[in-house]
Amino acid sequence: MDDFREKLKDRFLKYVSFNTMSDPELVGKRRPTTAGQEEALLYIKKELEGMGLSTYLGSEWVLLATLEGNSEMRKISFMAHVDVSSDVCGNNVKAIVHKYDGGNITLPSGEEICDEELAKYVGSEIITSDGSTLLGGDDKAGCAILVTAAEILSQRDRLSHPTITFIFTPDEETGSGLLFFPSSLMDSSVCYTFDGGKENVVEIECFNAATVEIALKGHTVHLGDARGKMKSALLAACKIAASIPDSESPAASDGHYGYYAPLEMEGNAESALLRVFVRDFDEEKLKERVSFLSSLATGISRISQVELKFSVSYMYKNMLEVNRKDPLVLESLSAAALSRGITLEYSPIRGGTDGARIAELYGIPSPNIFTGSYAFHSLAEWVSLSAMTASFEYLLSLVEFWSK
Ligand SMILES: [Zn+2]
Repeated sequence: MDDFREKLKDRFLKYVSFNTMSDPELVGKRRPTTAGQEEALLYIKKELEGMGLSTYLGSEWVLLATLEGNSEMRKISFMAHVDVSSDVCGNNVKAIVHKYDGGNITLPSGEEICDEELAKYVGSEIITSDGSTLLGGDDKAGCAILVTAAEILSQRDRLSHPTITFIFTPDEETGSGLLFFPSSLMDSSVCYTFDGGKENVVEIECFNAATVEIALKGHTVHLGDARGKMKSALLAACKIAASIPDSESPAASDGHYGYYAPLEMEGNAESALLRVFVRDFDEEKLKERVSFLSSLATGISRISQVELKFSVSYMYKNMLEVNRKDPLVLESLSAAALSRGITLEYSPIRGGTDGARIAELYGIPSPNIFTGSYAFHSLAEWVSLSAMTASFEYLLSLVEFWSK
């Protein structure tokens, strides 16, 4: 597999050179939100066509590349996203390959990577940025794994494997990746997303997510004449935000515990808007959380004598139920691990994935698989080449499972 390790590395280093930072401000205005994503998708399309795969890249800007296989076997798919987060700068990435010999890694910018997971990779190669940008392991590691798998599988007898579709999406980080999707072409019985992190970790459940908007309208008068008359929307919004329990915040919770995150507030005495992200693994509990916010906002708006408009939009759903509906899918995860001699760790995603949307929209199980990337969305992001290779080998074992 050493040969493929080098291919994975070269491909990953090429992909991180594309400026694919997505832009949440341009959702609904431009698709994909940035031109670099188009370049990356076109580049990958050409690579896959060169390997003999048939491709589709339409106005949705979702690339599907199909490797025809044995029609007696169930069709499967693998998915990764080409964009990177805009939480820190994600363009003009200067990747560095380190022969890792232990300890913390200090990057040229002065950024220091101190991660206990690094200790597992002494003696192997670690890839980082120069510390002035993120690296883009999320999810260019996934892209490199998928394309390299397509390369090796395209050289095998087509009757030895199922028909496989490799899917590359834009704008995952803006949450709009699957707003447009060529659904008529989606006929796989399972879609594994390669968008996870730590080696040997597989994710089959994620949050249910809602965004609550609390819009308040107050009453303003000249401040000199305000006694008993002025009703401040801004003050009411502050009281609501301050009344959301701190112990139920993202900073105070982990594991399977949900949260409220008042993330944005804008306004003045006349009108104010408070936006709260609500998350829970249990759908009923998510609704209870939304209803708690509604009672809280109603109570405080009445005391403050301001008008309230409360609205909620449900963003994505926990994919656990869909992932569980086909026992063979869960079996594939453990069988592939067994064949590689690794022990899987199941971890809940405290967020969502494109796979969660695939599960919700099409009822297709979509477990999320590790890629060997760490410290997502940060200047200290790093990728272990040996963990990325392990992910690639795991993908091939999943294909073997469905080839029986
Ligand atoms: Zn990702």
